[in-house]
Order: sequence, then structure tokens, then C-alpha cells
Amino acid sequence: MGAVLEGVHLAVIGGDDREIYLIPELQKKGAYILGLGLERSPLGNSIEHVRTFKELTERANALLLPMFGTDERGLIKAKYSNSPIFLNNEVLESIPFGVPLFIGWARPALKMATKILNIKLIEIANRDEVAILNSIPSAEGAIQMAMEATNITIHSSESFVLGLGRTGITLINMLKGIGAKVTAVARKPADLARALEMGVRVIDYPELEREISRAEIIFNTVPALILNKNILEKMSREVAIIDLASIPGGTDFEYAQLLGIKAQLAPGLPGIVAPKTAGKILAKIYPQVILEHLPPNLRSNSEGGVLK
Ligand code: NAP
Repeated sequence: MGAVLEGVHLAVIGGDDREIYLIPELQKKGAYILGLGLERSPLGNSIEHVRTFKELTERANALLLPMFGTDERGLIKAKYSNSPIFLNNEVLESIPFGVPLFIGWARPALKMATKILNIKLIEIANRDEVAILNSIPSAEGAIQMAMEATNITIHSSESFVLGLGRTGITLINMLKGIGAKVTAVARKPADLARALEMGVRVIDYPELEREISRAEIIFNTVPALILNKNILEKMSREVAIIDLASIPGGTDFEYAQLLGIKAQLAPGLPGIVAPKTAGKILAKIYPQVILEHLPPNLRSNSEGGVLK
């Protein structure tokens, strides 16, 4: 794919080290970058820094928000910003019709507001091509956390993986490679069959209560309260829980603490443990996705021509 974003003004708003690696890749594709909340970043003058949302929304053909998006108050994660940046209704109302807004995960309130205001909101974190690649740094980061949280090797450990989605499968492959004794926990017969094919022990959720006492390390990827009071009570007090599921995770953390069980919620691992890789993953995906959502007069193909 050549300079497919030639002449496109992209607004990059906040973010973390992933954006530091993503932005030069977008520039290689021809994009002109307007940055808000990146003034302290190592990118220096390689991008144009703007000071207000107003200027951004007047000039940008597309807006890129970070993977994490915003918190519940609308605060945008912006590691390199001098001051807090909020995505509020006033900002949303200033986005011209047809200008797409890209984000990793959008909170329900943002989804609702953009729907009402007829803004094109595109979430990218849950797309398979992003989630599968992101599962690699996530799994590596989770294993690193498990190594730090235990006094045993991962090799030969009784490691449970809850959920056999994109992250769970990658975790199982890595844990097997390190020599862990892996138990996969899933609810769909097809997922249980897949885990068997991968050569690991499988159990379904009704069996968890009986089986969980053997676990030394538990990796949860299920975004629902699976590790509840009842299950926690059946665990060894020596176990380490690494919960990767989106906030608030799938563990009753308060109760785990009460029982003296080590349990950690581990959000945003790709951006923490491997920002360069995570930025490059975004760089692989974004040009095509942006292109798909630009107005036809701004779309160019890999040879630089206009798509009909
Ligand atoms: P995924 O492919 O959708 O997999 C989720 C798994 O959870 C599936 O196996 C699904 O099973 C299972 N599940 C969902 N709800 C369930 C329930 N109520 N009971 C039992 N099982 C349930 O998602 P993913 O990409 O692997 O991501 C997993 C989680 O990790 C998400 O919350 C995601 O946001 C988060 N994540 C975190 C990081 C990090 O850095 N910590 C990185 C990437 C992703 P079914 O198919 O049967 O529904």
C-alpha cells in the first residue's frame, strides 16, 4: 500500500507511546498529522501541534482517539499533553458531518452521543485483525505479570485460562510453549473441542468449582464475574490471578483481597509492555480502515489514483 493517505489531514488526539510509533507510519502513507495533546512527545516538530479542538475539527478529515478512548468523565488518555483534554458534547457538536471519529473502545455514553449527533464513530479494538495481533503483547504481558507474582516457574505450573477467545487461545499457545500444564475453561462445545485439539485439559464452567483448587496461576479473559466469591473460596491461597478482561474484569477483587489471594487487573497491556509493536499493529490496520471511511473525494488507491 503506497501513499494512500496523501493529502489527508489526520487529527491525532492524545494517546500514549503507541501513537509515537503509529504517527510516523501514517506520515509514510502521506497523511498530514495535526496533533492535540502531543506537545511533550518525542515527535517534536515532525507534526503540527494545534491547541484547540476547534482548530482540529475545522481542518481535519478524520479524528483519531487513543485505544483506551476516554474515562467516564470524557477525559482522553494523553500521556504527552500539558493539560487535560476532554471529549464533551461541545467538541462532538463541532465535528463536521461525514468526518469519521476513530477510537479503540468507546464507552456507552460516547456511543449514544455520537448516534444522536449523527457522527460516524468507528471502534477498532474489537476488530479481529486488531484483537488477534494485540493478543500477542497481551499474552506476553500477562505471563510476565504471572512470573512476577509467583515464586514458581510457569513451566510445570497448573495454569488455568478462562475464556477461549482471541486472547485466551494465544495465551494457551504461549503457556504450552513454556511448558505449563494448561487447563482451558470455556462454555461452547466447539471451543472445548478446539482446546482438546490443542492438547490441553479442558473443563466447562460447572466443573470450575470442583477443579479450581488445583490452579496455581489463573488467567481470566472473560469479561463477566466468573471468579466470584464462591469460586474464590475454593482456590488455594497461594494462587495468582491475572485478570485481562476489560474493566472491571471478571474477579471479585475485594473478596480476593479479603481472602489473601493475589489478584491483579491488567488493562491495556499492549500499550504498556510493547508500545512499539502495538503502535505498528495499529499502523498496519489504520490506513485501510481510515480510507474506507473517508469521503470519496479524499480516497486514493495504493498507486495514488482516486478510487471510483
Ligand atoms: P473474545 O475473543 O471476545 O473472547 C472472550 C471470551 O470470553 C470468549 O471465549 C467468550 O466465550 C467468553 N465469554 C464472554 N462472556 C462470557 C460469559 N458471560 N461467560 C463465559 N464466557 C464468556 O475477546 P478477546 O479479544 O479475547 O478479549 C478478552 C477480554 O480481554 C476482553 O474483555 C478484552 O477487552 C480484554 N482485553 C484486554 C487486554 C489487556 O491488555 N488486558 C488486551 C486485549 C483484550 P463465548 O464465545 O462463549 O461468548
